[in-house]
Amino acid sequence: MSKTLLEVKNMHVSIHTDSGVIQAVRGVNFELHESETLAIVGESGSGKSITNKAIMGLLPVGGRIDEGEVILNGRDTAHFSEKEMNTIRGAEVSMIFQDPLTSLNPTMTVGNQITEMLMLHKPGMTPEQRKARALELLDMVGIPNPEERFGQYPHQFSGGMRQRVMISIALACEPQILIADEPTTALDVTIQAQILELMKKLQKKVNTSIIIITHNLGVVSSMADRVQVMYGGRFVESGVLDEVFYETKHPYTQGLMDSIPNMQLSNQKLYSIPGTPPDLISPPHGCPFAARCRYCMKVCEKIQPPEFTFSETHRASCWLYDDRAKGVF
Ligand code: SF4
Repeated sequence: MSKTLLEVKNMHVSIHTDSGVIQAVRGVNFELHESETLAIVGESGSGKSITNKAIMGLLPVGGRIDEGEVILNGRDTAHFSEKEMNTIRGAEVSMIFQDPLTSLNPTMTVGNQITEMLMLHKPGMTPEQRKARALELLDMVGIPNPEERFGQYPHQFSGGMRQRVMISIALACEPQILIADEPTTALDVTIQAQILELMKKLQKKVNTSIIIITHNLGVVSSMADRVQVMYGGRFVESGVLDEVFYETKHPYTQGLMDSIPNMQLSNQKLYSIPGTPPDLISPPHGCPFAARCRYCMKVCEKIQPPEFTFSETHRASCWLYDDRAKGVF
């Protein structure tokens, strides 16, 4: 097993709002190893983005890590100050977001946004070295005419090109971990494929580990080594890609799989999981998926299911795998 770069232990995150306290993440555990791609999958509101924003120290107003540890390169960063997180963000962990237009600074040239990152984390570089590195990065992510593009503003780039710029900023200081939050959702399908291909190519080149957050199982299948399926603020199934895709255990994961359109069937009615995700201001006592699950038993509504293990890497939290439930599934 390769080196562990990140270990999240029993992390609980809450968001304090006027309507109440949202228990957005309710005790998650996972690891990220060197050079791997981990996909965190789930519907909107499952807690996947908040999990990663907590790791980055970028929780929204009212958000905080209540419990647990975030071990990054051997130290617990869960309660680091903003000043301490500034030394980590961009240097050890970087993040790219769904919409590069709102993440890039519209008043700064693209070149200055890259060199600013270098100035922060590589203070020994001269202005000439920073510019040379910025041009190298723009070229590396496939921006034509980097010299000319260096002095242009984000609005002068197309959506796909802006996402390439975001990736170049994120990789400027060669972080060990890149967190990509729905990086291709705002792009059309062709550009989406190009950006995913670029991320894979750069991962090999700069040896970065990737956490990709998505609701798109097509993106997962083309990128991930391992998958964590999240629902109601918890991980409900995890495993290597083939285990989660071809030996699916959890009814929620099965529902996500059933929602993938089959290109062979032209008249197919698209399946969607009935119901809506739980209200995390007052989360259910038992299984978070109970209200939507076709296999729900009495115990599911009352007691949180334990984690059952199917291989060294494959786990799912569901009462169907308890010996007493044999024959229900
Ligand atoms: Fe369905 Fe029960 Fe399993 Fe939850 S624990 S997914 S409700 S069968």
